[in-house]
Amino acid sequence: MEPRTRHYKHALIGFGGANMLVAAYLVRHAATDPRDIIIIDPHFDGGDLRRRWGSVISNTTWSQFLGVLRDMHLELPPNTPAYPEDQPTPLHILASTLQASVEPHIRLATRIKAPLLAARKQGDAWELEVAKQKAKHTATTLHVAPGGVPIDLPFPKPEIPLHVALTPSLLQQYVSPGQTVAVFGSAHSSILVADNIVKAGGLVNMIFKRIPGASAEAFLFARDGAYDGVKQTAAVAADQILADGMGKRVYLVPVDDSVAVHTALEESSWAVYGVGFKPVPIRILDEAGTEIQLGFAQQPGHSNIYKWGIAYPSTTTIDGRTYVDVSLPAFAAHILAVRP
Ligand SMILES: Cc1cc2nc3c(=O)[nH]c(=O)nc-3n(C[C@H](O)[C@H](O)[C@H](O)COP(=O)(O)OP(=O)(O)OC[C@H]3O[C@@H](n4cnc5c(N)ncnc54)[C@H](O)[C@@H]3O)c2cc1C
Repeated sequence: MEPRTRHYKHALIGFGGANMLVAAYLVRHAATDPRDIIIIDPHFDGGDLRRRWGSVISNTTWSQFLGVLRDMHLELPPNTPAYPEDQPTPLHILASTLQASVEPHIRLATRIKAPLLAARKQGDAWELEVAKQKAKHTATTLHVAPGGVPIDLPFPKPEIPLHVALTPSLLQQYVSPGQTVAVFGSAHSSILVADNIVKAGGLVNMIFKRIPGASAEAFLFARDGAYDGVKQTAAVAADQILADGMGKRVYLVPVDDSVAVHTALEESSWAVYGVGFKPVPIRILDEAGTEIQLGFAQQPGHSNIYKWGIAYPSTTTIDGRTYVDVSLPAFAAHILAVRP
């Protein structure tokens, strides 16, 4: 017997911060009936904002987050503690508050707790393939936000996963006092990692790419006018690195100095890579069964696929430099600019 088919206007693939904001946009701005939405995610736990980066201190203030809720016409959940508005908060607080704000508006949406295996174009609709499927689900528009994974570099060094290095209680299980760690990258997360390693009693060789024209060639600071520069807690830590290497425990190693990089790696017991993210792969097939490669831009010819979040961030070009926007305020601005 053919499984019954149910059709939806919107399918949300992944339900982390980005697609929670898309759900809010669809229901609160675009007056979409939540019964016309299907959401597919293997966990429904708020995504990596809670799962992997929960104890990371945000680079955005609480008031910026409140601005996101306002922009999306979402109410702050009752009994939310009064966090200082000009301060950042741990990311799990953003995840749980966003989830609780969105939830009342999507109670009637269909949810499938499983990974999407593939979406196939069938005429005007996308057929959604999930594991252990009982009914057949199709949707007119796909919203793809499967999250990102940290980019790995192929050095033959034991590696501390980035989410471990960003979580002090986990980091202690890897780094012994006095051990040296090679940290690649000098943006927000790498600076927080260096701070965590020093607090765990370790030393850091921070391997950085020189930033031409920056006041400190290792760090791009927001206070220098850089759109995506280091700010908040990470900026305080970067200042300490520049002042005295956090008490001579963090050494800055330019990546173009191959001898210094070789030495830094030789003396390090571990490596941590804070050098960006790549999208979690999702199989999207056209009518001929050929996989559609999803780029950053909204795709001409496939106008009923939207891509969001850390996997497909929007970019902004200012004075010839292109910046990648990855934060809830940037995701919200992206959605409101595109108006899916
Ligand atoms: C170190 C770090 C610091 C950050 N700091 C901030 C900050 O200070 N402030 C801020 O606002 N943002 C910050 N962000 C950025 C951003 O808010 C988070 O990374 C956020 O988790 C990204 O949301 P997302 O929805 O794109 O991805 P995710 O939260 O990863 O959600 C993706 C979801 O898709 C699901 N999924 C994956 N594959 C499939 C599949 N095949 N089928 C169905 N579902 C699938 C996953 O289970 C997951 O739930 C930070 C990010 C990082 C990495």
